[in-house]
Amino acid sequence: MWELLFLLLPLAALSGWFLGKKQSFRRKSVAVNLAADYYDGLNYLLNEQIEKAMESFSRMLNVNANNVEANLMLGHLFRRKGEVDKAIRIHQDLLAKPSLTAKQRCQSLLALGQDYLCAGVYDRAESLFQELSDVYQDISEKSLQFLISIYEIEKDWDKAINVAKQLQSKTMEYMGLQIAQYYCEKAVLAKQRGDLALALKCIKQALQADRGCVRASILQGDIEVSAGRYEAALKAYKRVAQQDRTFLSEVIERIVKCYEKINAGAALDYYFQQLLLDHPSVTLILSYANRLQQQQKTQEALHCITQYLRQHPSILGLNHLVALHLLESTESEQQGLLNLQALIGKLLVNKPVYQCQSCGFSAKSIHWHCPGCKQWGIVKPIAGLELESKSHF
Ligand SMILES: [Zn+2]
Repeated sequence: MWELLFLLLPLAALSGWFLGKKQSFRRKSVAVNLAADYYDGLNYLLNEQIEKAMESFSRMLNVNANNVEANLMLGHLFRRKGEVDKAIRIHQDLLAKPSLTAKQRCQSLLALGQDYLCAGVYDRAESLFQELSDVYQDISEKSLQFLISIYEIEKDWDKAINVAKQLQSKTMEYMGLQIAQYYCEKAVLAKQRGDLALALKCIKQALQADRGCVRASILQGDIEVSAGRYEAALKAYKRVAQQDRTFLSEVIERIVKCYEKINAGAALDYYFQQLLLDHPSVTLILSYANRLQQQQKTQEALHCITQYLRQHPSILGLNHLVALHLLESTESEQQGLLNLQALIGKLLVNKPVYQCQSCGFSAKSIHWHCPGCKQWGIVKPIAGLELESKSHF
């Protein structure tokens, strides 16, 4: 929307100049109509009345078919409506006009590239955006962003990394978070091919791009586990707590398994104590309660969860508490607890576990690239469903 309004600014200036300078009645009348259509189109756009906005811009083109801004806006609106073929025709006709300035030609090529991108003709879109990647600053930045979109769709992570770095140096805006995710994508592919050395190299590059990349740490831990290097895996998983504690729920069970593999139960208990002091959460409490339970310390586990839930009530915690009570219950108590567990189960079913911090998209599994807003590394665990209770955090 704002891109369109920006396009209208030169037209507004032109209309004002036109109104002020031209004396003839006929020309004045044309300018008045042009300005009226401009304000109408603007108003319709602001109110999301696309059809009416298109009618206004079409009227402007009836007065002057060479009006570049009106052509660009109409083309944009056709693309937005999904009528990409019409948008392509408008932009191609526009490019055939000899009166275009160099910048207007670049704007038209950029619009045509977007049409091709929208139509899924990626090779044509790519060559246009490459052509525009080193022209006017604003057009060049947009072209690089569109190139990145194409490489993301095509999963060409090397090209995506190169273009993201170009864009970063051009705009001076930090793109490390995104670049780190591309390296992680490369690491995942390498891991799938069994090339663990390359996967670890990509993870190192991801962490160089973004020291806070939890995905890189989790991947590193998983690769070290698959190679039987549990101490190295522990180091990687435990880094997550420093990077982003909301992801602790993702790694705590993996951490427990690693400690168990190296027979370091006392160290695990100490680690739990530290975590519970620094980052208490229902996921952590439940994980610790599981450990107590495995050690036949069910009463201690019950006490631990109950104490926590008194301060931080949550459905997930309650569910676990009922399960523990079931273990300790008499036959006459069991049916009531089973009924309660079934009810809680219904509350938990289909409950999203992850949510995008930007657009609110939610899901049952982690998405490193948000399908809603297309941002990277922005979907996070919903803290063990603790958010069910609004009495804390
Ligand atoms: Zn999102």
